Amino acid sequence: MLLRHTPKEISERKALMINPAKTCQPIGAMYAALGIHGCLPHSHGSQGCCAYHRSTLTRHYKEPISAATSSFTEGSSVFGGQANLLQAINTIFTVYDPEIIAIHTTCLSETIGDDLPQILKKSKDEANTPEGKMVIGAPTPSYVGSHVTGFSNMVKAMADMAVPATKKNGKVNVIPGWVEPCDMEEIKRLAAMVGVDITLFPDTSGVLNGPLSGEYTMFPKGGTTVAELQGCGAAIGTLALGEWCSADAARLLDTKHKVPCRVLDMPFGLKATDRFIDALRTVGGTSVPEEISDERGQLVDMISDMHQYFYHKKVALVGDPDQLIAMTEFLVSIDMCPIHIVTGTPGKKFEKRIKEITKDVPFPVNVKAWGDMFLLHQWIKNEPVDLLIGNTYCKYIARDEDLPLVRWGFPILDRQGHQYFPTVGYKGGLRILEKILSALLDRTDRDAPEEKFELVF
Ligand code: SF4
Repeated sequence: MLLRHTPKEISERKALMINPAKTCQPIGAMYAALGIHGCLPHSHGSQGCCAYHRSTLTRHYKEPISAATSSFTEGSSVFGGQANLLQAINTIFTVYDPEIIAIHTTCLSETIGDDLPQILKKSKDEANTPEGKMVIGAPTPSYVGSHVTGFSNMVKAMADMAVPATKKNGKVNVIPGWVEPCDMEEIKRLAAMVGVDITLFPDTSGVLNGPLSGEYTMFPKGGTTVAELQGCGAAIGTLALGEWCSADAARLLDTKHKVPCRVLDMPFGLKATDRFIDALRTVGGTSVPEEISDERGQLVDMISDMHQYFYHKKVALVGDPDQLIAMTEFLVSIDMCPIHIVTGTPGKKFEKRIKEITKDVPFPVNVKAWGDMFLLHQWIKNEPVDLLIGNTYCKYIARDEDLPLVRWGFPILDRQGHQYFPTVGYKGGLRILEKILSALLDRTDRDAPEEKFELVF
């Protein structure tokens, strides 16, 4: 009953967020930067910000997160952080020898007006960066947008590394958006099965879900290489998975390097995965192998076998826009009823899209972008649901309202497995359904009177 003070009556709030459904921009930028091979993310601000970003990522991925900071003091907060950043770039290359440093700003450095492109130019002019090494930067003021915005800004900075190409290399850029490292692995596996040679960026597989080998390496073996990023301008096309996380980078490649792009939904669930596979096949000029059709058939089989348990179950969802759009479509396609949907990331387009997807749901649907979990809780109090899907923080609502909870999204601090078991693609769809079904049937078992406590449903 930790949230017992949440009132059922909903009052209009304009300037107050309670239990945000988002976290800060630089966390997204740092996660994206870790998807570059040999990259040391750098936080241009105070040590406290960097410690928070690192600890949040560590608690979700259960891996140590290396990152540097400009370590602002009172002096840099007043006079600007240029001297600190120039010194930091020099020290990082001297001590840690990364291939690339990916710098993001913070509330503090943005508020005092530090001009990151100017500082990076000065660093270049002063030969502060060793030959063959790179420094990129992204603005991530956290009083705008969310962690999703920060992720998108850093991915755009990665796309900006592409160099002009005189001829195409036959590869396809795939920008996966903020998904788990195992999801990135799964996207690469599917692309290989369809026979399309892709450059996936960012790619945190092998970085944040690597093995424990007993040997320390400063930079894990995974990640998109600098050379691959520089070659993105020679690709025959780009598939951006998610409007919020990936579209800006794809459009930059289109505008600057004439690499045609398509913006798709993230491949969660049957229909979105169908569209992704079809887009891969089309842009790569290949055909879909039987193995993929079989995987699809398995997902369809599970949907039809378990449909009776999903039918017209009401669901509340909270998370990030790209994930929620695909998940809502998946739930509707199996006859579940997502009726309360909140994202902490701004964007009226989100509300419009969710309304389109849920137009045939036979109950009123509440949707809010730039909303919070307090509002979601109030909606649930007014119109109860059978299932809650969202991040770790949902456990407080789930306990208060006695609801089954499926943990999905970011952050998940109190469970394991999300970095290893993909939820994208057809196999990922099986995993999502298994989690939903287990949550619903565990609840049925718990609540069943003895005479109805059946072994077989
Ligand atoms: S001050 Fe801004 S950048 Fe730093 S942790 Fe807080 S929200 Fe994030």
